[in-house]
This record gives sequence, structure tokens and C-alpha cells, in this order.
Amino acid sequence: MAEIARRTTENNNRVMFLIHRREVLDQAIKTFKNQEVNSDFLTAGMVQTLTRRVDRLPVPDVILVDEAHHALAKSYQNILNRFPNAIILLFTATPHRTGRQQLDQIADDIIVGQSIHRLTEQGFLAPFKYFQPPGDFNEKVLKRGSTGDYTAESMQEAMSTKIFGHIVKQYKRIAKGIQAVVYTYSVDSAIKIATEFNSAGISAIEVDGTTTKEKRDRAVRKFRDQEIKILVNVNLFTEGVDLPNVDCVIMARPTASLALYLQFSMRCLNPREGKTAIIIDHANNFKKFGYPDDDRDWKLAIKSGKQKSKTLLKDPGLSIVTCDYCFAVVRAADVKDGKCPICGKPIKVHEAKPISDVDLVEATKARKEHIKKIIQDQVMTNVVDKSVNELKSMSELVAYGKLHGYKPGWAWFQAKRKGLIKG
Ligand SMILES: [Zn+2]
Repeated sequence: MAEIARRTTENNNRVMFLIHRREVLDQAIKTFKNQEVNSDFLTAGMVQTLTRRVDRLPVPDVILVDEAHHALAKSYQNILNRFPNAIILLFTATPHRTGRQQLDQIADDIIVGQSIHRLTEQGFLAPFKYFQPPGDFNEKVLKRGSTGDYTAESMQEAMSTKIFGHIVKQYKRIAKGIQAVVYTYSVDSAIKIATEFNSAGISAIEVDGTTTKEKRDRAVRKFRDQEIKILVNVNLFTEGVDLPNVDCVIMARPTASLALYLQFSMRCLNPREGKTAIIIDHANNFKKFGYPDDDRDWKLAIKSGKQKSKTLLKDPGLSIVTCDYCFAVVRAADVKDGKCPICGKPIKVHEAKPISDVDLVEATKARKEHIKKIIQDQVMTNVVDKSVNELKSMSELVAYGKLHGYKPGWAWFQAKRKGLIKG
């Protein structure tokens, strides 16, 4: 964005930069300055501020919108509609909204950036391990509210009261000593989770929308300085807030929003030498959305109409297994020699919980057996009216031997005689 702004202002064209969180605005303006954007031609501000004095704003040639999945909101539209001749560039890491209205309402096209896989390979994001401990989570009671996401009441009903103890127990087992951010559904639950951690001797602070700015800043600073281990929050650390040393994310709430899911789960993916992040999902979000780094069809994601988050997955049939010992959620394809790739304990692939109903691994195994049988039958048919002298391969000899009830050694002896095998 800064580079586009630099080149635009370099030619004496005006840039407008829209953002919706104060914390990120200061950071962005600093970056723009460092990247030599000519500030005489730059209007940068929060949407909420600019929308109030839209009549007095200088007319921009280019508008850059940050976190643009919000851009269908009235406050944004009020600004964007005012400048019909401007080139509008919408930036977002999560180009999908809950509900039917998507970004095609305001965007002509989408340019898809590099995939999360690719960014991880290049070191811009940390690799991660995903865990889904069993819980008493009842998704049947979840109800969507006016925002499109689940209501706090229904989330509370869905999460068992044992969850608070579970969260601490699983953290100790999976991520002990690692700094973690917990996402939960209500102030009440956030306080309970923080209390549970503290009474287990693990330092935790709770922050939510009602926390004063001073208290919130202090909590974030303490976390950043590694003075506390756990930061529990209710919908605060989703966009923008810079928390560089989050190595573990604990999801203690479900969400119906793919954007929120990605913001939660990817919060811990800031890279650091040798780091592998840990994601602990207590609310079955994996089932709805897959891994955060699964390839998604973003071109489809911006199309308005009814669509499920899972249909955006480019490969929804990937078979997934949950380890009974460590609760890691792994791809069946990553299971080698029947061992969990995370903890090394035996893992049963046939108990796989695939995203789709098809258990690919089992299906492949069965198909291989089936094909093997067909080939054997085929060879049998081929050799049935041949003489021994006409048999040209080991498999033909084996089939012939079987047909005539010879001992297994016969095929081997014949193969040696024909020079098919040495020794
Ligand atoms: Zn395991």
C-alpha cells in the first residue's frame, strides 16, 4: 500500500487512506513516512472520523482501504461514493463476509495474493500444529444473531461449564510455558478462564470491550514484555493489534465467520527463527473451516449469494485424523507407519474424521486392494490356456501355479530356469 501511495503522490496525485482502528492508523502513517510517501498529497484517517467531514475532504485520485471486508458498511460507502472518479483499492486478508452480501457489490475484480502455504515456505509466517481436544461442545444449540455470527448466549450454552478447567489442562499438556492468547465469547467467560489460569499458577490477564484503555495497554505491554503468559480477550485482538510474541492461540469459542476464524488462528503465526506455533481449538472450528492455511477459492468468496465457508476450500475432501493421545489434528497423508507425526504414538487412520464424508485414505487402500485383485484375475485369465513355455513374467508364473495348484516354490523355480530372476 505504501509503495502504491508513494508512486501516486510522486506524480502529484492525491491518495486517501482509510482505516478503522486507531492503533493501526499511527503505525500506518509511520510506515508511509518511512516509505517516502509525500504527505502533502496524503489524507489518512479513521473511517469514523473522515465520514463525518467527507464534504471537506480533498478529492483523492486513489483510495486505499485497509481491512476492506468492512467496506460495505455505510460509513465506508458514504466516503467511497463521494469520489466516483477515484481508483479504489480494497485490501484484506479475509475477503469474505458472513451473510449473502459479498465484496462483488463494490469491487470489479479480485487480485489474489500469495497463499499462506507459500508465505510460510518463504518465512513470512510460522508453521503451526493444530490441536482439537475432545470437549463437551454442543454445536446444535448455536444460533446466529444479527451480525451473522453466533449469539453470546448460544455460545455459552454450547460450551460446557467444564471448559474452563479443560482449557488450562490442555494448555499445560500441549503448550506449557508458551505465551498464549485466548479468544472467548463473553466477559464472564473471559474472567473465569483468567481466574482458572491464575489459580493454576499461570499468569493471566483478561481484557474486553469494557476494559479501560490504560488497563488494556498495560496488559498488552506486559504480554509483549513476557511478564504474563496468558492474555484472555473478548473480540479485541482480531485486527491490527501488534502482539509479536504470540506463539499459541486458544480458541474457546466457535464462530460462523471465516474472517474471524482466520484472525483468531493466524494471530500466532508471526514468524521467528525455529518457531512452530500452536493452535488449540476447543470449539470445533476446524470442522467448519479446515486449517487456516488450506487453499481457499477467494474468487468464489467475493461472490454474493448463499455459500458455505467450507465450499471455499479448494480441497474439501482431504482426510483428517485426530490423535487419541495428543489431540493433534493431522492430515491422514502425513501419518507414516501408523504413527502420529506430532507425538509419535500409534494413530488409527480408520477412525479418521474427514472434512467430507469420504475417508480418502481408507478409500484409497480399498481401491488398491481391489485393483490388485482385478490385475491378478486378469493375469489368471491370460494364462489359463497357455503352456508353461509361453509364460513370460513372474506374475504369469505365479498365476499359472495358483491355477494349477502348484506350490509357491514352483513359480520361483520356473522363473529361475527362464532367467527371469537370478541366483
Ligand atoms: Zn499424537
